[in-house]
Amino acid sequence: MSLLSIIVPCYNEQEVLELFYHEICEESDKLSKSGVSIELLFIDDGSRDETLRIARELSQKDKRVRFISFSRNFGKEAAIFAGLEHCKGDYIAIMDADLQDPPSLLAEMYRAVTTEGFDAAATRRVNRTGEPPIRSFFARQYYKIIRMISKTEFVDGARDFRLFTRQVADAILKLPEYNRFTKGINEWVGFKTRWIEYENVQRAAGNTKWSFWGLFLYSLEGITAFSTVPLAFSALMGICFCFVALFFVCFIIFRTLMYGDPVSGWPSLAVIILFVNGVQMFCLGILGQYLAKTYLETKRRPQYLIRETESTTACSNANHAVKEL
Ligand code: UDP
Ligand code: MG
Repeated sequence: MSLLSIIVPCYNEQEVLELFYHEICEESDKLSKSGVSIELLFIDDGSRDETLRIARELSQKDKRVRFISFSRNFGKEAAIFAGLEHCKGDYIAIMDADLQDPPSLLAEMYRAVTTEGFDAAATRRVNRTGEPPIRSFFARQYYKIIRMISKTEFVDGARDFRLFTRQVADAILKLPEYNRFTKGINEWVGFKTRWIEYENVQRAAGNTKWSFWGLFLYSLEGITAFSTVPLAFSALMGICFCFVALFFVCFIIFRTLMYGDPVSGWPSLAVIILFVNGVQMFCLGILGQYLAKTYLETKRRPQYLIRETESTTACSNANHAVKEL
């Protein structure tokens, strides 16, 4: 019997957690017919609602359920990393808690890695039905840009919902970077991947945890982590401006020699100074982004801190029982 670990990052998911658990149990019954048992690993990413209590209760009544609870909200990327470090399975799947990643695909994904010779099965949604149009628009433009400027292949609509072998998980863990961008990391490590497409599914309950600003910052993460083209672009822009300046110097010298030097044109000068300053600030900003990321990397802070797991809960329950005796 092989073990499939399902890693589930959860942040304030009290509305869906039990629903998710029941759906996975149904799927697990089907999977057990093909010789797979499951381990369900909830990563409570510092939730402020009842998520931790629900995960704790589920782990007490079902031994297949484990949980790790962070000391605060560290983000989905850190949750995935923690899951990969702590799971025990021969095969590993990563799924959202909100049922936007259909559990019914697990069997097909498992088949792809066990019988079809793939190392990983990844999913891609073919549409974004139900998502705010403005978010879809920016997401599409983002994928176009990042595909142009990065050597890593980014797939439009790719989800973090993946199933892969222990070998792939070990490869992902070899990338200990602090600023993580899973979609890029998955592509960067390579391996033979089977893509499975599906229609977008909406959240079963609760709300998305991503604000527009949060998504914007996360998208910058992807660019700085997987491309240095913006740096080259700012250098190129500097060179272009030098050439333009040289042209104007020649033009002004020629005009002065031919027509003298009437003092006029200060508004255009002011505009030029403002424009060039703007471009300089923009380029400095790009440089600053890379510097900031490098600064954070050099601190080597841990990705996450654990406050509680199913084993610490079991220990403290046992201690309570002993004291009462
Ligand atoms: N999530 C998390 N930490 C966070 C934000 C989100 O663990 O800081 C989890 C969340 O509980 C869910 C998954 O990441 O299981 C995807 O989040 P969400 O559904 O809000 O994102 P969306 O599907 O809207 O992109
Ligand atoms: Mg979601």
